[in-house]
Amino acid sequence: MHTVQNSQRAFEHQALPSYLQADSLGPWGNYLQQVDRVIPYLGSLARWVDTLKRPKRILVVDVPIELDNGSIAHFEGYRVQHNLSRGPGKGGIRFHQDVTLSEVMALSAWMSVKNAAVNVPYGGAKGGIRVDPKKLSRGELERLTRRYTSEIGLLIGPSKDIPAPDVNTNGQIMAWMMDTYSMNVGATTTGVVTGKPLDLGGSLGRVEATGRGVYTVGVAAAHNLGLSLNGARVAVQGFGNVGSTAAKLFEQAGAKIVSVQDHTGTICNDLGVDVDRLLQHVERYGGVRNFSESEALNDADFWGVSCDILIPAALENQITKDNAGRIKAKLVIEGANGPTTTEADDILRDNGVLVLPDVIANAGGVTVSYFEWVQDFSSFFWSEDEINSRLVKIMQDAFEAIWQVAVEYKVTLRTATFIVACKRILKAREMRGLYP
Ligand code: GLU
Repeated sequence: MHTVQNSQRAFEHQALPSYLQADSLGPWGNYLQQVDRVIPYLGSLARWVDTLKRPKRILVVDVPIELDNGSIAHFEGYRVQHNLSRGPGKGGIRFHQDVTLSEVMALSAWMSVKNAAVNVPYGGAKGGIRVDPKKLSRGELERLTRRYTSEIGLLIGPSKDIPAPDVNTNGQIMAWMMDTYSMNVGATTTGVVTGKPLDLGGSLGRVEATGRGVYTVGVAAAHNLGLSLNGARVAVQGFGNVGSTAAKLFEQAGAKIVSVQDHTGTICNDLGVDVDRLLQHVERYGGVRNFSESEALNDADFWGVSCDILIPAALENQITKDNAGRIKAKLVIEGANGPTTTEADDILRDNGVLVLPDVIANAGGVTVSYFEWVQDFSSFFWSEDEINSRLVKIMQDAFEAIWQVAVEYKVTLRTATFIVACKRILKAREMRGLYP
């Protein structure tokens, strides 16, 4: 009989392939460190942990389009399915000039963790195109979206992998994606993407869902900290869909939005800015800069603003070892994906700042995406009240469960969320087994 010595079986602990190795400062490296921290708490499921360190499928596509001036431009597109153990892939599509494969890998992995943390029946996926959409005409943007959708058509489908909006993508882009997929398969298939306009099988409450989720878990965490929202000072980084909705809800609860930063600059107002008027300014001028009812602040000084709650709701790697020590907030609520590096996480923990991690704090978006997908399948649509109350219940229950784990194991909320989520993913992985 053919036998092998264990000493010969080096493949049992193979190094990660080069494209999966931690890009030390990048989001994928940050994610790998977060996974490593959870291994001691996985018990016998730790045997499967490498599955979390390797995306299941990576698709890189060339996206050529004809520009309005007749020339041809090529863009790099991605769709990564990180893990499908618990259900179809789910996660947004990002259009941004800095998108890279390793960023999309990290974002897809955080989707796996997030979907498991709130227990929606999905795996994790993410996509993106390396493009600055603000430099494209509407026609060019449509052609780009349709070509990209056709290229990733191999992977997506209502029971395979369901995209949604993310940074710089919206309901119109989802409508083009839904139409392109539907034309290619010959049947109108609303459930292939979520975050669609209401008239095309979209869901009430989806646009505000991420910000509402940020607010919901923020209220629960503030309550546990004994922090009153009435008069609380809130600073927000990013005034897009997530940041502006969260700011509005905190303002309605009596908090003051004392500083806002976006890609155009940083503003502050000790008495609190009027969120609706700031939104009007942003619509007109494209950013918060020069908002008349505020003073300008140096971008770097945003992190030292005197506040109780800080909401990073922009991009990854914003809170780093260089600025974490300046943060005065008692509570950080991660509206963005991956805004805090592992080193910064440790500094915040040591300084007694409570961090509500992205994988629970911004899970409201995908939760209402799940509701949209269920509504599309059943062709039966719910009221906004029903959607919001179900969303609040899921977010509160997930938060309470994670809080208990954090108390029990004396770990941060991030590690607690990873414990809950990774156990769910790896349990499914183990029960399914390896096949073929
Ligand atoms: N892009 C959002 C996120 O990062 C939503 C994803 C979805 O709804 O599928 O969670």
